[in-house]
Amino acid sequence: MVQKIIVIDPGHGGSDPGAVGNNLLEKDLNLDISLKVAARLSSYDAQIRLTRDDDSYISLNSRAVFANNLRADLYVSIHINAGGGAGFESYIYNGPVSTHTANFRTTIHNVVFNYLKGFGVVNRGEKRANFLVLRDTSMPALLLENLFIDNPRDAALLKDSDFINGLALAIADGIVESQLLSPLTQENPTIPADPIIQNPTVPPVWDPQGEIDKLIASGIIVNNHQADTPVTWGQLATVLNRIIERNKL
Ligand SMILES: [Zn+2]
Repeated sequence: MVQKIIVIDPGHGGSDPGAVGNNLLEKDLNLDISLKVAARLSSYDAQIRLTRDDDSYISLNSRAVFANNLRADLYVSIHINAGGGAGFESYIYNGPVSTHTANFRTTIHNVVFNYLKGFGVVNRGEKRANFLVLRDTSMPALLLENLFIDNPRDAALLKDSDFINGLALAIADGIVESQLLSPLTQENPTIPADPIIQNPTVPPVWDPQGEIDKLIASGIIVNNHQADTPVTWGQLATVLNRIIERNKL
């Protein structure tokens, strides 16, 4: 069974701090939550990839291209909101989307809000928007706006590491539920990496003297030769003519 590839996208980064408020930077919260989501998902049978795992600037287009090149199964972008509201909302693209996209989003939205409601967080609902990472990704993609950085009550929660840990677990659990991921068990402990790495093309071991032996065995050359001795044009022509003669049969 091919492993699902899940891309976690910590919004903003580097020169782009995202929203700022209450001594918090959105880019830092996004990265913290995303790394914890990825850590949680690493105990499941899936490949987890991050668009960034440090404080670097990545363009929106590069993020979408990254996920598209991976042929990811799901793209989850992690953000913190701002602008005078409060609470949690999720987004999918406001153009045509697959039913998978809508279903995955609803599952993840509900699991995350089930956690948040214990803290009195407002449910702003399931929304749609023309965000680049939702529009230009070729797999089901959603974006989570996890509370408002400029709201004092939301910001107090965002400053609480236990709250953040629980939020990351809830997002991971929502992903697990939506993708039907299996936990890695003792019987299934390996995390195969890339399909390319998983099925490596084993380079043949080059055996020059063995190649000469094979030519002798097949009658293309008659005598043994040292593998590193030069060939004359006469010898090369003889060998080529033997091959040509053979192919006429
Ligand atoms: Zn953002």
